[in-house]
Amino acid sequence: MKPALIIAVDGPAASGKGTLAKRLAAQFGLPVLDTGLLYRAVGQHLSDDGHDLDDGVAATAIAARFDPVWLEDDRLRRREAGEAASRVAKVDGVRKALRQFQQDFARQPGGAVLDGRDIGTVIAPDAQAKLWIDADVAIRAGRRYRELVARGESVTEADILADLVARDMRDAPNMQIAPDAVRIDTSALDVEAAYARALAAVLAVTARTGQSRR
Ligand code: C5P
Repeated sequence: MKPALIIAVDGPAASGKGTLAKRLAAQFGLPVLDTGLLYRAVGQHLSDDGHDLDDGVAATAIAARFDPVWLEDDRLRRREAGEAASRVAKVDGVRKALRQFQQDFARQPGGAVLDGRDIGTVIAPDAQAKLWIDADVAIRAGRRYRELVARGESVTEADILADLVARDMRDAPNMQIAPDAVRIDTSALDVEAAYARALAAVLAVTARTGQSRR
């Protein structure tokens, strides 16, 4: 029997990986998990409970009681939640506590698409298709800025650029490019062009393994 198709979509913040992951999931009829939301949820709970965002012990305890209903909190898309996420994501205990949920999602019988930082290396090193999505940090800042403004947040592009530079540094230890990942730099690509490359990379895999698209 052919293994279920697992697609890992990794890359830094605001690289466009979430959009590509959702479109690939729709194309292949697979469930999709935005794993950044798990870290955002833990960061949000930590902040709601009045803890310091660098309190690794409290963050680990919260991650250990992670509940998927937490992912439905609208506040998780906000700028603050992204910042809190990257603070808790550097805590080893938090990463370990959130691992099983992500691995169970990846290994569900029909296959899955996951986007994050370490899907192709830690969560699902056995994924057949691995993409690494990147873009110049100034371009990513512009995209994230427009997204947050459209959501009604009052931010400046300079603030977002500073956030992303800090976030890239904080995330670096847990952002490893799988050696077998296909790299796509979306700096000069619009969504359609980026998606065409991502789809081509996945189809190259499915053609080899015989897995079919919907
Ligand atoms: O992808 P998103 O920007 O929502 O992720 C928020 C933060 O969560 C990241 O900056 C990163 O610190 C952390 N994260 C992670 N591993 C993942 C997904 C997100 O460390 N697989």
